[in-house]
Amino acid sequence: MSVAERALTSRAALAETLDPTRRSWVASANTPGTDFPIQNLPFCVFRHGQHVPRIGVAIGGQILDLRAASARGLFSGEALPAAEACDAPSMNGLMALGRLPARALRVQLSELLREGGSGDSAREVLAPALLLPRDEVALLMPAVVGDYTDFYASVHHATNVGRMFRPDQPLLPNYKWVPIGYHGRASSIVVSETPVRRPIGQRKAPTEDTPTVGPSRSLDYELELAGWVGAGNTLGNTIAIDDAESHLFVLSLLNDWSARDLQAWEYQPLGPFLAKNFASSVSPFVVTLDALEPFRAPLAPRAEGDPEALAYLSSESDRERGGFGITLEVWLRTARMRHEALEPVRLSRSQSLDLYWTFAQMLTHHASNGCNMRSGDVLGSGTVSGAAPENRGCLLELTERAAQPIVLPSGESRGFLEDGDEVTLRGYAEREGAVRIGFGECVGVVIAARS
Ligand code: CA
Repeated sequence: MSVAERALTSRAALAETLDPTRRSWVASANTPGTDFPIQNLPFCVFRHGQHVPRIGVAIGGQILDLRAASARGLFSGEALPAAEACDAPSMNGLMALGRLPARALRVQLSELLREGGSGDSAREVLAPALLLPRDEVALLMPAVVGDYTDFYASVHHATNVGRMFRPDQPLLPNYKWVPIGYHGRASSIVVSETPVRRPIGQRKAPTEDTPTVGPSRSLDYELELAGWVGAGNTLGNTIAIDDAESHLFVLSLLNDWSARDLQAWEYQPLGPFLAKNFASSVSPFVVTLDALEPFRAPLAPRAEGDPEALAYLSSESDRERGGFGITLEVWLRTARMRHEALEPVRLSRSQSLDLYWTFAQMLTHHASNGCNMRSGDVLGSGTVSGAAPENRGCLLELTERAAQPIVLPSGESRGFLEDGDEVTLRGYAEREGAVRIGFGECVGVVIAARS
């Protein structure tokens, strides 16, 4: 088979895995509203009991052990390289292969798990050997993150935050030309459910003459998507916009926890530093671009008078389908709400199509100076906010720097986060004619600063 023929076959096979009528013999995967129907198949890294960590795939309420499935010889041909890369405690090797091997694995997994497929008749044998209930495993970091860059791709977020500091000129002149970002720190990226300790640092209120050192008094979350780099590029080489998605492996949720008081005092002139790198949480399930295929769309149109993207950030394909229609939500539950058995309350809901830059543009821009991207690198989208007040993806925006606190069902109010607060990010994609898929949750509970 020629390369072109193989690509065509893989696209046809991919379309079958996305068939909305396809159901799984894993019953929980067919529950309406589940995040993990057979059309999703997101990867994760997990540990079960004393076994070594390994790579799995979420299907309904279960995790399929890819290492065990591979050892039973359930994969063949083009799926073998990806299946073999799953015998590892992190996804870096799998990511390094790029997207097509993982697609071949997806095609065979879907066949194994579908009703009437190759695994259906053997389900009595396969289920106990391969499937583990999700609440019986510990979910771990998906990959070893070598580098983390956080962008600022929501024009609504950039405008809302900019307005607080520069009412006359909320957006700086470069914003609509260059995808703005800063180099974050990879060592403090943690997986969902890791407690987040309130950072201590220098902060100086406008009314104070000198800074003091102490626990942050304005701790915030940031609702973001993370793009994980698959196949990298070598130092000195660039990534063309039309090739960018072949270097992007999966998306996940990201909470870029932020200490606003530390940030306000330290950020000039070089940008965020200790206000951001005490913890950044990622969701354990990473959703492939293949699973997101039905939800591709153009980003919201740029405002009239905005410049066109420069040529190296511009392609017809990226303009037509470079966005992903993902709805993102933030939920809050305080310690008192947990104690009183009150349900979490939704603070905001936004849409990733409202971003100003696509992930392909962010990745292309990042490598445009010859910077080498490596498998497992994380690119944060920046806080995803929309035009309306209920679309604001962090408390800084939602409460106007705590000037308009949110009143909770417990009678408590919040300008920023208090100790004991549990923040949950959720994301999902849905549209007519496709099966809804979700990202699971990215959860973190704020714990008190070290004394
Ligand atoms: Ca951020």
